[in-house]
Amino acid sequence: MMNARADVSDVPVYVVVGGGRAGASAVAAMREANFSGRILLVGAEPYPPYERPPLSKEMLVKPEAAQLTIYPETYYADKNIECLFGGSVVRLDSAAHRLTLASGEEFTFDKLLLATGARARAYPLLDQLGERVFTLRTRDDSERLRSALTPGCRLLVVGGGIIGLEVAASAIALGATVTVIERADRLMARGTPDPLVDILRRLHVEKGVRFELGVTLNGASCSNNGDVLLRAEDGRPFIGDLVVYGIGVELNTELAVSAGLHVENGIVVDEYGRTSRPEIYAAGDAVRQWNPATRHHQRFETWANAQSQGAAVGRSMVTGEPCSMDVPWYWTDQYGHNFQVAGSHEASEWLHRNTGEGFKSTMLGLVDDVVVGAVTIDNGREMRPIRTMIANRFKVTDRALLADPRVDLRKLVECGR
Ligand SMILES: Cc1cc2nc3c(=O)[nH]c(=O)nc-3n(C[C@H](O)[C@H](O)[C@H](O)COP(=O)(O)OP(=O)(O)OC[C@H]3O[C@@H](n4cnc5c(N)ncnc54)[C@H](O)[C@@H]3O)c2cc1C
Repeated sequence: MMNARADVSDVPVYVVVGGGRAGASAVAAMREANFSGRILLVGAEPYPPYERPPLSKEMLVKPEAAQLTIYPETYYADKNIECLFGGSVVRLDSAAHRLTLASGEEFTFDKLLLATGARARAYPLLDQLGERVFTLRTRDDSERLRSALTPGCRLLVVGGGIIGLEVAASAIALGATVTVIERADRLMARGTPDPLVDILRRLHVEKGVRFELGVTLNGASCSNNGDVLLRAEDGRPFIGDLVVYGIGVELNTELAVSAGLHVENGIVVDEYGRTSRPEIYAAGDAVRQWNPATRHHQRFETWANAQSQGAAVGRSMVTGEPCSMDVPWYWTDQYGHNFQVAGSHEASEWLHRNTGEGFKSTMLGLVDDVVVGAVTIDNGREMRPIRTMIANRFKVTDRALLADPRVDLRKLVECGR
């Protein structure tokens, strides 16, 4: 842990709390915007900022190929960014511009960015299973799960969201047998287009995953022979060796709440990333940002949002410029296939561009002939022009042309057809 004191200097001091994707992007953007004051990055985890997406994918299946590093450790020293990893901020006095660490150490700041992200939502019914139960948010979680997942092990995945499905796919690759138990009647209840949900469900079933949908659990125990037993409300038992649950997140907003900032399903910020105290900013999973174009506050739990919002807010802290808002976008990798989703999932119609080459395809979501959302499967190169289409509210005039996979979407975007 590097030692850093931000209160002994007369140059402006910007402090970032949270060493995740948003925090890392923010400090980099501050230097890119030529901020010459002191920057202090404080993270509770004992590592420099790292990427979370590989934790449920490569880190489980092929850890030696996983790329976790965001910036090499030398980057922070080169950019004169002071780092304090393994230190939790436990108190924020917004009036005094003072932060207190768990160790009792104190820092003052001129501007502060909260990039505190989220943690896995706890499920006390399952947590009582002790070492047989796993969640997946951190590098430590992933390493612990990796060492427990052995060929032939019977894995019960509770929660059929993206994390649950990625873990299921990784566990199948490692030779486990997998049952996914989901309380809702469909997988990926939030924010995923129906056609993609159907495709993923079929793919998992083909690979041998068993789905139990519409199941509410009300019992969990370990038997003397080491089996884990989960029981559904209707009495049905599910037996396995290990349980992984992914039932959403809890936002790390405690500091913001205790400092009296406006928090309502996330730390509420304006288009500059400013909280209800203008010298305190926030970015990433824990944040609900005002979008002047949609006239709504929006919160996203995606890598792309943490990366671009972190960078935009970091820049805004230096330049005072508003943040530009990107079309929402995320991806998931399962069974060697790449699925990307952009824009709204609430299209009334999906127009398919099937290439005929395996899974490779694109679906464009339309409302009143306007492209509002999209899914690509192993066809990520179409995502950039599609995001431009969504941002420009591209109106479809020739469906046959758009459905033809040989037609280059970049050209359509250029000529606006
Ligand atoms: C397993 C997994 C797989 C994922 N896969 C994908 C994917 O394929 N595609 C995609 O788009 N998104 C994916 N995501 C989501 C994406 O990784 C997150 O949206 C992104 O990491 C959020 O970044 P963040 O910086 O806002 O928050 P976080 O990554 O949560 O970082 C916040 C950091 O702040 C620290 N912190 C919190 N409170 C304090 C405090 N008081 N003091 C000091 N430090 C503090 C935390 O310890 C944490 O390190 C995945 C997430 C997970 C967990």
